[in-house]
Amino acid sequence: MSCDFAALANAGIRGLSPYQAGKPEAELRREYGLDHIVALAANENPLGPSPGAVAAAKEVLGRAARYPEGGGGEFKHQVARHHGVEPSCVVLGNGSNEILELLARAFLGPERGAVYSRHSFAVYALATQGAGAVPQVAPPNPADHPMPYGQDLAAMAAQVDATTRLVFIANPNNPTGTWHTEAELTAFLAAVPGDVLVVVDEAYFDYGVDHRDYPDASRWLARYPNLVVTRSFSKAHGLAGLRVGYGLAHPQVAELLNRTRQPFNVSAPALAAAAAALADREHMEKSRAVNRAGRDFLCRIFDQWGRRYLPVGGNFITVALGVPGRQVFEALLPKGVIVRPLAYYGLEDFVRITIGTEGENRRLVAALAEVLDLDAPGGL
Ligand SMILES: *Cc1c(COP(=O)(O)O)cnc(C)c1O
Repeated sequence: MSCDFAALANAGIRGLSPYQAGKPEAELRREYGLDHIVALAANENPLGPSPGAVAAAKEVLGRAARYPEGGGGEFKHQVARHHGVEPSCVVLGNGSNEILELLARAFLGPERGAVYSRHSFAVYALATQGAGAVPQVAPPNPADHPMPYGQDLAAMAAQVDATTRLVFIANPNNPTGTWHTEAELTAFLAAVPGDVLVVVDEAYFDYGVDHRDYPDASRWLARYPNLVVTRSFSKAHGLAGLRVGYGLAHPQVAELLNRTRQPFNVSAPALAAAAAALADREHMEKSRAVNRAGRDFLCRIFDQWGRRYLPVGGNFITVALGVPGRQVFEALLPKGVIVRPLAYYGLEDFVRITIGTEGENRRLVAALAEVLDLDAPGGL
């Protein structure tokens, strides 16, 4: 008889429920024999990566027998220059997800706590529980707040106690799209004790928020030694499949994280592609423009339909379509459209829809009109 391996696992791991990814496009293609899938479930860039990034990744494939540069090489310096910080403040990650994991590994453990808000990015809970630490979950803003279901920074500050080592804040937040101003975040940073690390997750920074008060927290690193900022190449840079992100922190914090990461945690093609993507401003501008146009189009339709959506930060719209999100998700599948139901995030009434290209948005709207029996606007 085999032994009960689950009983042998660390307590934190035994209690984990794994991350639920969006439905993969290839799976839908197989199940329904569909050719043209509109994949709007994972907040990827619908334009794809910068052509220069693809060329750069291909170029290094011929040298795949060699290990990548362990410290990240020139790319790390490029990131440091991009933010006007020293390279010693930069930690590269296999996606920004890895930075969150490295923080948990370095600073959390049994009898240590991490604060995050109820409807925030799922990986905060996974990293905390995986480290065997105590989730200090703050209640969200109420439904009638200007930033509904978003992170309530006062409630989060109230969760901080002597056991707290990390606070996770996404700006904008996934899946609620809500965001914080510079004044709100700096007041929070000033209020929490200096021995609590405050992680500001800026995975959607490059899509950003259309408001002049939306801040770039990386500019405050010198002012707040306990601030950690994370960025991703998976969203606006269109490199989700290559897994690149980074953290910016006090050199001592960065050094601790660099101690625990794998020596070659970011692959050579990923490093090459990310370097080219960071330099390609034109592709970024185009990606932002497509996102803004798609956002305005979809919001107009939801307004016409009288459906409630949350504030739009980043490249997704979280909308309540009048039936449970799960039902919308399932009804759209046979039509070749994938969106993200949010029951997993505790928002059963909502679906999260990534803003696509103009053609994808039109297909989405036409499919929604059909499954919800709503008027398709003219021309669709
Ligand atoms: C997508 C996402 C990330 C993770 O991105 P990777 O760089 O692909 O690991 C981190 N935080 C938030 C809020 C996200 O939505």
